[in-house]
Amino acid sequence: MSGLATTDLLDLWERASRCGPHERAVHLLAWALPEHSFEALADLDLGVRDWHLLRLRSVLFGPKLGSYTDCPRCGEQLEVELDAQAIQGDAPPPAPCYIDRKGRRYRLPNSHDLVAMASMRDAAAAERELFVRCRLDQTGLDEVDVDEVDSGLSALADERNYQLHLSCALCDHAWSLVFDPGAYLWEEVRARAQTLLDDVHRLASAYGWSERDILAMGEARRNAYLARVQ
Ligand SMILES: [Zn+2]
Repeated sequence: MSGLATTDLLDLWERASRCGPHERAVHLLAWALPEHSFEALADLDLGVRDWHLLRLRSVLFGPKLGSYTDCPRCGEQLEVELDAQAIQGDAPPPAPCYIDRKGRRYRLPNSHDLVAMASMRDAAAAERELFVRCRLDQTGLDEVDVDEVDSGLSALADERNYQLHLSCALCDHAWSLVFDPGAYLWEEVRARAQTLLDDVHRLASAYGWSERDILAMGEARRNAYLARVQ
């Protein structure tokens, strides 16, 4: 894995911008793990997926992450700063990973599951479908307590995601939220792609150069020409 070349970044942006968030995360993951097929990457549980996405983010843009969020009680805006290397550790969460309820096993959801659920409008039916998909034994769902499976899988997922514990300096309210590396990285890729498209537009308009020639330039040379067409 290395830095993302300008043409690769635009290809990735174009491919992923047509997708929903879960499929998009797998497209980003394919850059981090090019030796694996798209299907195999979509089979990874979300904890493993997000670990690799956070690592990819460090490689592309550095380990320091910054964002803003609003206090849910008083609305005060908080600045959130993270160090990817500090929160993710040296290795992805261990696999395989499942829970056992009354002798029946359920695995954690993966990207395939979430894409399938996203197309369902009935939330209760989608939740039931998720449990059917995650069931490792051929037994009926009626034989288990769905709420018990739900809480078991949620607790296991919480051990593998990036929980941020925040507090508001203005009203002392404390709360937690889950950091989503795929959504964060996608916003950065999207913003970088828009900047590149703007640069191509300005230089192509000024000099008549092709997109390919403009993107093939080093950043310093491209910026030097951009400074001359202000
Ligand atoms: Zn507050």
